[in-house]
Amino acid sequence: MSRIHGFTILRDEPLVEYAARAVLYRHERTGAEVLSLSLDDANKVFGVAFRTPPANSTGVPHILEHSVLCGSRKYPVKEPFVELLKGSLHTFLNAFTYPDKTCYPVASTNLRDFYNLVDVYLDAVFFPSIPRHVFLQEGWHFEWAESGELTRSGVVFNEMKGVYSSPDSVLGEFSQRLLFPDTTYGVDSGGDPKVIPSLTYEEFKAFHASYYHPSNARVFFSGDDDPTQRLRLLDAYFSQFDARPVDSHVALQKPFKTPRTTQMPYAAAPGQADRGFVTVNWLLPEAADQDLALTLDVLEHVLIGLPSSPLRKALLDSGLGEDLAGGGLETELRQMVFSTGLKGIKPDAGAAVETLICDTLAGLAKTGLPADAVEAGVNALEFSLRENNTGSFPRGLSMMLRALTTWLHDGDPLTPLRFSDPLGRLKKRLAAGEPVLETALKTYLLDNPHRVTLTLVPDTELDARRVAAEKEELAAVAAGLDAAGQAAIKADQEALQRFQETPDAPEDLARIPSLTLADLPREETRIPQQEENRAGVQMLLHPLETNGIAYLDLAFPLAGVPDRLVPLVPLFGRALLELGTDRHDATTLTRRIAAKTGGIYREALISSVFAGNPDGLAARLIFRGKATVDKVPELLDILDEILTATDFGNQERFSQMVVEGKSRMERQLAPAGHVTASNRLRARYTMAGSVAERMRGLSQLLYLRELAERVKTDYAGVRRDLETLREVVLARSETMVGLTASANAMGGLETAVTGFLDRLPATTTAPATWERLSLPEAEGIAIPAQVHYVGLGLDLAKVGWTFDGADLVAARYLRMAYLWDRVRVRGGAYGAFCSLDRITGQTVFLSYRDPNTDATIEVFRQTGRYLMDATFSDEEMTRAVIGAIGDIDAHMLPDAKGHVAMVRRLIGDTAPLRAAMRAQVLAADVRRFRQFGEALDAAARQASIVVLGPTPSLDAMTVPNLTRVDVL
Ligand SMILES: [Zn+2]
Repeated sequence: MSRIHGFTILRDEPLVEYAARAVLYRHERTGAEVLSLSLDDANKVFGVAFRTPPANSTGVPHILEHSVLCGSRKYPVKEPFVELLKGSLHTFLNAFTYPDKTCYPVASTNLRDFYNLVDVYLDAVFFPSIPRHVFLQEGWHFEWAESGELTRSGVVFNEMKGVYSSPDSVLGEFSQRLLFPDTTYGVDSGGDPKVIPSLTYEEFKAFHASYYHPSNARVFFSGDDDPTQRLRLLDAYFSQFDARPVDSHVALQKPFKTPRTTQMPYAAAPGQADRGFVTVNWLLPEAADQDLALTLDVLEHVLIGLPSSPLRKALLDSGLGEDLAGGGLETELRQMVFSTGLKGIKPDAGAAVETLICDTLAGLAKTGLPADAVEAGVNALEFSLRENNTGSFPRGLSMMLRALTTWLHDGDPLTPLRFSDPLGRLKKRLAAGEPVLETALKTYLLDNPHRVTLTLVPDTELDARRVAAEKEELAAVAAGLDAAGQAAIKADQEALQRFQETPDAPEDLARIPSLTLADLPREETRIPQQEENRAGVQMLLHPLETNGIAYLDLAFPLAGVPDRLVPLVPLFGRALLELGTDRHDATTLTRRIAAKTGGIYREALISSVFAGNPDGLAARLIFRGKATVDKVPELLDILDEILTATDFGNQERFSQMVVEGKSRMERQLAPAGHVTASNRLRARYTMAGSVAERMRGLSQLLYLRELAERVKTDYAGVRRDLETLREVVLARSETMVGLTASANAMGGLETAVTGFLDRLPATTTAPATWERLSLPEAEGIAIPAQVHYVGLGLDLAKVGWTFDGADLVAARYLRMAYLWDRVRVRGGAYGAFCSLDRITGQTVFLSYRDPNTDATIEVFRQTGRYLMDATFSDEEMTRAVIGAIGDIDAHMLPDAKGHVAMVRRLIGDTAPLRAAMRAQVLAADVRRFRQFGEALDAAARQASIVVLGPTPSLDAMTVPNLTRVDVL
């Protein structure tokens, strides 16, 4: 056996699926395993994972995940993680707690930066400081409120209160727990807010000591960096440990003999008093069986993957609920799970839904699955595996997480990455007519007694009872305290406050490794772009290496849309993809899209434009399609069909889409309250903000409610509106096309696309006039939650501000320093954001899962003052600049590059503008930070406010003229 830097090579093999070389090592001294992939990917990934099965729901793995990033032996500052967020070029930097593992991944395209990140993370996990006050801050602690009342706070404690307020999260969490009652998956690794306060500091420390050891570690590397250097870095840490046995094995769940049924309450808003949720969940075999995992993946697609899929359709057509529930096939745990159901059911309809699901499956097992649905399922799976398009998530990280499904349980890490052979076997068996999917359906779903049906029943009093119970409990704790006990809490509270308010010593901060300004590229990497005019249409060609795939973006102008139809645009786009056409019904159409292409998606681009007036905007409905180059003619054929021949006559299906959309928005309101607040605030400043709010904000929800009624009483009218949109939107004139593919395929594609454009109608429509929304200065939106989302908006354009790239650096710095410190660390909110629109100067501050309201608004208001008074060391300024350049240079896959280039073209974000911005970013200094602070401070006098939270909190707020909005 070969050895290198203290490691033994266990395997050394090519990984053809990713054109990679894979080497698996074991560290001789400690037994740590390392999977090292070398491949042509500049976005280098490192990750260390520990098997961390919890024994209870105190959330100890989750609290530890937060805490180890709060200072370590080599980096003794309060939050090295935050310093890296502020001042590195990371393309990914985070940590995750799973039910059975904790992962610490980083990624960067810059080699020096990458090594810096790896070292800070290794030191954090193996040598964290984790003093008591970090546990109090990140986990939970008592506090004496100013009123003299005893309260409880903590970052994870508040975060999990937010999670437990969301019925979607509760449904997912408890579906899992009920399926695995006898294993570690039967408890919540994230922490149940009721149980978190039973965790002691000693148990927390002991958990780290037991599990964060090289003998329990799996380390992953991928990218184009030197594989030997990876081992050197690791050995420097591992060699400080000796091997020891770690008992972290995850047991298999004992099978149930008969199915089970459970009901639980969830915290519902008054308007949701008649709406429940139900999932039916099955426990499946181990995820390590790749042939079975792929088979079940195809089966999932056939059953629920498309709007036309038989099980999805049966559920939605039944009228028993509003939208599908459940995560489908889940392969992240040791044993796989399949879960489906309905949201928005009548509270007593759980059993009926269960019966419907079982009957539908029985029917399918008997009649067999439709051949074109199976073809669609196989192609969709194969396309996604081969394309490996992980969006903004690094590709290497997705490979790491896949490898861990088997590796974590002592299986072969390469098995889940090698899909070619099992996929080939599956296709062969299907081609031979073997009923592979029907057999799987019978064996693992229909005849499988290990099944749990979970119904969530609405309870409009639950939140109030929870709050009251906690109050009572805290009062009892307070009453039982003697003087010494009271003093101990006070001492903890003061120690924590002191710790939070004491800045890090400059010499400690200087230890965090950082790049210098000289390491940063002076110029932005250009996205290749060639502009052509074909049949009167602007075409942007982006020759990029895409692995045999062509990406097509069609951007239709919305300028001709009559004002009253603006909010109908998103549904119109969806209708084209799902309703069916004169030539093919919805089922055939959606299966054909899945069988022949990599998918067609729609989105609306709504943005202000450069060098325009405040009401100038780019408004486009964009269809994004992808296919292998040889299938592009089919992709164009389908696009031609849906754009010109969609049949809007399917009232039932359209009505389902409206109800589904409405129900999704209602459920997103509470967990994504910061998004709601942001849309609402932006609506006040520009036409683009107003249009975006009408298409995707709270206004859209109100519109969908009306539309749901109108679809019932006046479908002919709705249909006419859809026809009008087709006429005014889907024409050739002013349309822009983006095409991203490898250079040698481009010529042929261009010809094919030109032919397609020729077939589009050449009608022109005069631009319509749109009304701007007029909204009150301050709004309080009631939601059923135990936390708040606080938003404050400023209009810098009103105070004579003009953009300087340094303002982006300042806004980012505010988010990472001031807001992080005041709103998260001291305020106890899970997150806080600040975003500056460089086109218009509107600046929005937001908090996420926040225990406070007025206090956070005050922090936001003081932002300008803070910047005006702050002093910055040169190192701090350099880090802030590096972080901002990292954002600007975000790593993109080829399809994203093509899309971004098109968006820049549409909003007028030209190369000279971007170059000027970059030069200003690189030249950012204290003087400009203060000027930006002055603009914020001046604008703060006319701030707009939007807060989401429970009614009692809104009532207690001191903001004058708070307009109440009750939507749930
Ligand atoms: Zn967390």
